[in-house]
Amino acid sequence: MDKLYKPVKYQCSDHIELKTYFTKYSNLLKKVPPGLNLSEELTPFEKHEAIMTYREGFTPEKREELHSFLSICESDLTIYRVETESPKRPERSKNTERIFLRVARTNKDSATCKIKKEFAVAVRIYHPITKKNGRKKRFQFSHELVVLGSNTLADLRDKIQCRSDFLCLEVKDPTLDIDYSPSSKDVYPSGFIFIDNVFYNDMRHKNAIDYSKVIRTWAAEESTIAPLSTGNMATTCINDLSPRFGYPYVYQHQGDCEHLLTFSRSWLVTNSDPLNTKDYPHLSSFHLISIKLCILCYKKAAKWMCCDSNRLPHKETPLCQECLLEFLYVDGEKRGEFTLYPYIEEDYSNI
Ligand SMILES: [Zn+2]
Ligand SMILES: [Zn+2]
Repeated sequence: MDKLYKPVKYQCSDHIELKTYFTKYSNLLKKVPPGLNLSEELTPFEKHEAIMTYREGFTPEKREELHSFLSICESDLTIYRVETESPKRPERSKNTERIFLRVARTNKDSATCKIKKEFAVAVRIYHPITKKNGRKKRFQFSHELVVLGSNTLADLRDKIQCRSDFLCLEVKDPTLDIDYSPSSKDVYPSGFIFIDNVFYNDMRHKNAIDYSKVIRTWAAEESTIAPLSTGNMATTCINDLSPRFGYPYVYQHQGDCEHLLTFSRSWLVTNSDPLNTKDYPHLSSFHLISIKLCILCYKKAAKWMCCDSNRLPHKETPLCQECLLEFLYVDGEKRGEFTLYPYIEEDYSNI
């Protein structure tokens, strides 16, 4: 695909053999210069002091500055937000665009990750491209997940959030609890992740089909497209891959719901990361702008999508619970004609 989507356009890296790269890096880290003591018994403060003494030339002021900087980096934050509320147009405020999370560190005793041996990779997921008024909307970041090299692509897929994985049936009474089972994902479990000319298919479910077949058949007749092959999502680990960082790859599910994903960062796992393998993949950030607000009050998140109403000017109107009941119901009875569906946002609470 490099001929069609030229890597230079995306300012991405070369292919990086993740396993080889981090094995070399891990071995390099073991070569601490003689005379520099960085044993695990030392506190972070003592380690910083040891490095600065070894490197020489640090004035007392510079030492203090670096200590305060490094102590911020190592503080035990469990979660923090970088955004502030904007009362007028919260969905457009630059400060509210992205929420960053930091997963709590694991107690060292229950650590199952190998520190400075295993590596983690951040994978950014983008919203599917949709057309509005006949024009394609721009790619929009949705959320970022952190996976371990030992995680499979299926582990990654299971954590990707998309509202099309939920089944939305018409709701007659908005005051009753909605039964979301079975989900679209249960009924249509097929999907693939396409990386460097390989379709990694998810065939774990007995009803799963190979989505890539029709594409491969078409591509075989196109002379400009390199041969495409298939792999198994459930048995392919992240450390089997040699991706380009920053290059767009594809995740497709629910028929034609197509997301771009990119490998954005990678690092050796250290004490400042969650150290339990079951904490991966986890969410590291998500885009607040994707939250749709109620079109009437413009304050609360939409819970319903009201369609074809003869009392509203739009074909589809997102509404919160309060506005829906106030504007379209009287004593529990519908006012006017419309059909009502639950509006589902990506749910990041369980990642
Ligand atoms: Zn999707
Ligand atoms: Zn409202």
